[in-house]
Amino acid sequence: MSMDRRDILRLGLGLPFLLSGGAAEAIAGTLGERMPVPTRKPAPPRALPVIMIDPGHGGHDPGAIGPSGVFEKDITLDLAKRIAARIEAGGRCKAVLTRTRDVFVPLQERAAKAQTAKADFFVSIHADSAPNPDARGLSAYTLSEKASDGLAAAIADRENAADLLHGFDIGVSDPQVAAILFDLSRRHSLNTALARKAHIVKTAGAKLRLLDNPRRSANFAVLKVPDVPAVLIETGFLSNTNDELLLTSVKSRSRIATVLAEAFTGAVTVG
Ligand SMILES: [Zn+2]
Repeated sequence: MSMDRRDILRLGLGLPFLLSGGAAEAIAGTLGERMPVPTRKPAPPRALPVIMIDPGHGGHDPGAIGPSGVFEKDITLDLAKRIAARIEAGGRCKAVLTRTRDVFVPLQERAAKAQTAKADFFVSIHADSAPNPDARGLSAYTLSEKASDGLAAAIADRENAADLLHGFDIGVSDPQVAAILFDLSRRHSLNTALARKAHIVKTAGAKLRLLDNPRRSANFAVLKVPDVPAVLIETGFLSNTNDELLLTSVKSRSRIATVLAEAFTGAVTVG
């Protein structure tokens, strides 16, 4: 059979009309009938608790500087990334970071991130300095208007000053707002945070060196997250040569991260 030009044109014009009419729907309908219709939606996967890890300092705020010249902001970022990776690998919790690069994040923004992410736990990671060069070891802080001792107060003051020094108002300078935030935090989250602080100190303390009186409290702006239990960890003191050595060694940081990831996961899933 031979087709002339007119036949080809007719066929070419007719085909789209045919398919755009009932034919296309008929084909789809036939296919649709044969498709298995799901009778039940699969159950959504159970949401894992979210731990937000906050590497202290960053950008133009180096934090403490060790005798060897190492910056706290670099130690905290590396530790936080390792902790987050270990938590994720454990499969019992999800981990998110407040910063993944060397950038400055205001304290209030860090706390706000935990709230926006609806985190189940917020942990800020630090390695500050102390006036006494012999002070060393890990300690954990919860929020309190009254510091547990002079060192706790001095560390909190220095941490809070980071925002003011770098042109950010920490947003809690209004005493009424601060009181409301503190009250909300205390009522909804502080008891949980206290229990988790105790769990972390107990678990990590079995494997890492602790500071004297490791369960501490102070008025840290970054811990003012009304809806999220929040703890700040001082992993050690860069002002102590032994701690500085431990914190600058990749092998030792890796070990600290493994211990803390286990402690944080346990604090959220057991406590
Ligand atoms: Zn710090």
